[in-house]
Amino acid sequence: MTTIPHRDVVIVGGGVVGLAIAQQLTRHRGVGVTLLEARADVGAGTSKANTAILHTGFDATPGTIESRLVARGHELLHAYGARVGIPIEPLGALLVAWDEEQHARFPDIVAQARANGYDRVREIPLEELRRREPHLGPGAIAALEVPDEHIVCPFTTPLAYAYDAVQAGLELRRSTRVTAVDRLGADDGHPGGGFRVHTTAGVLTCRFLVNAAGLGSDVLHRLAGHEGYTVTPRRGELLVFDKLSRPLVNHVLLPVPTATTKGVLVSPTVFGNLLLGPTADDVPDKEDRGSTPDGIARLLDAGARIVPALLEQEITATYVGLRAATEHKDYQLELFAPEGYVSVGGIRSTGLTASLAIGEEVCRMLGDEGLQLDPRDDLPEVHMPNVGQAFPRPFEQEERIAADPAYGEIVCFCERTTRGEIRDALCAPVPAVDQDGVRRRTRATMGRCQTFYCGARVQAMLDEANGGPAAPATPTAPRKAVA
Ligand SMILES: Cc1cc2nc3c(=O)[nH]c(=O)nc-3n(C[C@H](O)[C@H](O)[C@H](O)COP(=O)(O)OP(=O)(O)OC[C@H]3O[C@@H](n4cnc5c(N)ncnc54)[C@H](O)[C@@H]3O)c2cc1C
Repeated sequence: MTTIPHRDVVIVGGGVVGLAIAQQLTRHRGVGVTLLEARADVGAGTSKANTAILHTGFDATPGTIESRLVARGHELLHAYGARVGIPIEPLGALLVAWDEEQHARFPDIVAQARANGYDRVREIPLEELRRREPHLGPGAIAALEVPDEHIVCPFTTPLAYAYDAVQAGLELRRSTRVTAVDRLGADDGHPGGGFRVHTTAGVLTCRFLVNAAGLGSDVLHRLAGHEGYTVTPRRGELLVFDKLSRPLVNHVLLPVPTATTKGVLVSPTVFGNLLLGPTADDVPDKEDRGSTPDGIARLLDAGARIVPALLEQEITATYVGLRAATEHKDYQLELFAPEGYVSVGGIRSTGLTASLAIGEEVCRMLGDEGLQLDPRDDLPEVHMPNVGQAFPRPFEQEERIAADPAYGEIVCFCERTTRGEIRDALCAPVPAVDQDGVRRRTRATMGRCQTFYCGARVQAMLDEANGGPAAPATPTAPRKAVA
């Protein structure tokens, strides 16, 4: 007779949210946690394709779950990032008004920020705006400073949670899609309840089930026997400008938000590029990750107004992220007791920032439902390899190169990634299994040549690590260079 593995908690979805929940749960003694991720790697869904702002939540809707968890998540991620080495740059944001109507909304925006518990938004004089952002377009008439909107590495954050959790005992199963869920009961030998989870790689049972399936959260919600929300992907297209553009912008440049979107921004990235985007278009297809001529044209129009000199710069890549928007304005974060199911759906535009706070909240919910949570103080936290431009990289560190010459051997010249870093990514606590995974762990292949010079070498290292040529790469978001 085959024994079905029984776990305390099964988390479905290895994006930044599911991984943060796993990171928090595994910091408690004796809690058996399994995370199931359909893709070949963690952090490879919406979590790798966002604008990477560590939000304050100043513009959230007061009183929502989102408002509370974004504020708490900012605090938690800022502190955690400093401890484990997640690149975070405290640039601050300037929210720019381009006409009198937008300027007239400033008092409401300040009042909304205060209602969200954030009181550091202030209007700055126009001369100060011009001094701080000399390349800003001529139509800017006023600005609010939001000093705590930072930029954060969207790749290192979920990987840090994953490495931390795996080292603390998480059972991580990649390439494992959940296909069905049944409730357990006394007839199955589980009088306390629980779930039987069917996957593409076998069956397991658990007491608690956490749905952090992002775009697939509504499907899983139904598989778990619930109705209540439908995910309609809201596509966001973005343009990445070459590193030579970076000196054009000093802060995150935000537009005045509307009721439906935060709007198109220009922001530095921790990798030393500039981003322009995102658009916000509802689409029917959860796999619709292609850039569109119309989206690119709209972005270039917006960019021409915000920082006209941007349009003279080369575009390195385009990408698309799909927000898990629902018909509701708030996160669909709810514990269904006593069955022990937690929905963590509809984490639309702020999940990177809120991730650790969501993890904290889910721990509390499960604790209230009887999961024994005894905190461990014997766990070392990981120290993540730095991929941030503002912090020392291995190729710049003479002592490190002297100790291990692989850190002096550049493989990706655009991004200055060394053989030592790629080697480390291939034997990390959650190893990279494809080029996209190497890119998110090391920056190799994400530069202006878009794999032309380094792709074959990176693939050869992957093949060697995998014991032979890799299977065809898992589909990833298109990253095509545009003329
Ligand atoms: C354009 C854009 C800009 C954004 N900008 C920001 C920003 O600046 N700051 C910020 O804080 N947030 C931002 N966000 C939001 C943030 O990226 C998301 O909220 C966050 O990534 C959601 O993480 P997740 O783990 O819920 O989803 P995902 O990363 O999509 O992870 C869900 C995972 O579940 C897996 N899955 C689905 N179904 C199943 C199944 N049946 N079985 C197993 N696995 C399954 C998927 O493969 C996926 O990996 C932005 C989002 C977009 C799209």
